Amino acid sequence: MEFDSYPGMVNTRGYTAKQAFKSVDKGWRHLVRVALKYKPVDVRIIQVKEKFGTLRIYFEPYDPAYNVVTNTLNAVSGFICEWCGNIGSLDKRYMYMLTLCPSCKILRTQKKEEMYKDSDVVI
Ligand SMILES: [Zn+2]
Repeated sequence: MEFDSYPGMVNTRGYTAKQAFKSVDKGWRHLVRVALKYKPVDVRIIQVKEKFGTLRIYFEPYDPAYNVVTNTLNAVSGFICEWCGNIGSLDKRYMYMLTLCPSCKILRTQKKEEMYKDSDVVI
């Protein structure tokens, strides 16, 4: 299986940088770059994804110092727009939470309205 084609999935063989970068939107790619820069050589990143609006980076084996790095990136991601990298906050207006800046929140609303404009489905 070509894991690079499955961003965000668990990959116990370890993520390539390509898979890691493809797993989040461009506003968080610099956070992934930090995660790769500080990763100890004997640690494998097994998953990178957005969950409940923040960046999650899972790795093996457990490394306490690297855990501080990934936890910090998780916390910081809650203040950075995943789409564009500007200062953002958690957008809880929809079932799927995202951290977005004010402009991207407007863009998201417009996309939702466009998506549902001809729908009769009750939302
Ligand atoms: Zn934004």
